[in-house]
Amino acid sequence: MKTLREYIKEAEEKGVAIGHFNISNIEALHGIYNAAKKLNVPIIIGVSEGEEEFIGRDEVAILVRMIREKDNYPIFLNADHHYSFESVKLALDIGYDSAIIDAVKLPLEENIALTKRCVDYVKELNQKEGRDILIEAELGFIGQSSKLLDVIPEGVSEATMTKPEDAKYFVEQTGIDLLAPSVGNIHGMVKSGNPRLDIKRIREIRETCGVPLVLHGGSGIADEDFTNAIKAGISIIHINTEIRVAYKKALEKYLKENPSEIAPYKILKPAVEAIEEVVYNRLKLFNNL
Ligand SMILES: [Zn+2]
Repeated sequence: MKTLREYIKEAEEKGVAIGHFNISNIEALHGIYNAAKKLNVPIIIGVSEGEEEFIGRDEVAILVRMIREKDNYPIFLNADHHYSFESVKLALDIGYDSAIIDAVKLPLEENIALTKRCVDYVKELNQKEGRDILIEAELGFIGQSSKLLDVIPEGVSEATMTKPEDAKYFVEQTGIDLLAPSVGNIHGMVKSGNPRLDIKRIREIRETCGVPLVLHGGSGIADEDFTNAIKAGISIIHINTEIRVAYKKALEKYLKENPSEIAPYKILKPAVEAIEEVVYNRLKLFNNL
């Protein structure tokens, strides 16, 4: 099977993006995988530090690897937004395919130093174990929660968007494989609608920085913006909030309509189906199907 790096390269050549979907439990993994299988496209499963702690760091690694090997399916696991070298190392040591070191809140030089430490560790690990792990980092602030928001998060503005020359410097200094820029995207979903993406900025960053780009905070973005962002240089798109909303709504509806049901596999079935539907539609769009 091709490596994640090769799938990303292939996505860029084809003008499509790989979907990255977060989970905190096994039913969400089922919903996402069911959708991907129907379309036969590669996918990335993401777990943040909080999600990882809930599902189990080792457990999720084993589950994803098991699906990949049993079905010979391109499903990969990413340590999404890990905030320390230690937590990145723990995930990579037990087999995650990639990690995001999020040091965006630190002063630039400290961000570079911490990111570089992760990159150096991965080089060593790749060489020792014959793996091809990728390191991603974020530059420019886009907020920090996967929630439904009343307003755009504080501290996010045009001033915190990534500048192409900064992206180039950051990639050169750190040696990262993937960059998550701030281009009008935000983490979470604004109830009145998310801001529009700065497509021109995406194109400029991709051209100057030299590595594939990852769009975080994909929930709530207009279809047209996704399509243009992919054409401009986005190779991976993160969706989390939309899945959480679909899961909760389906669960609430089922419990309301079936107050005496106690079997988890019945209660959670509509939630799995709701996740599947969200992911299916997103994957269709991202893969131009
Ligand atoms: Zn993110």
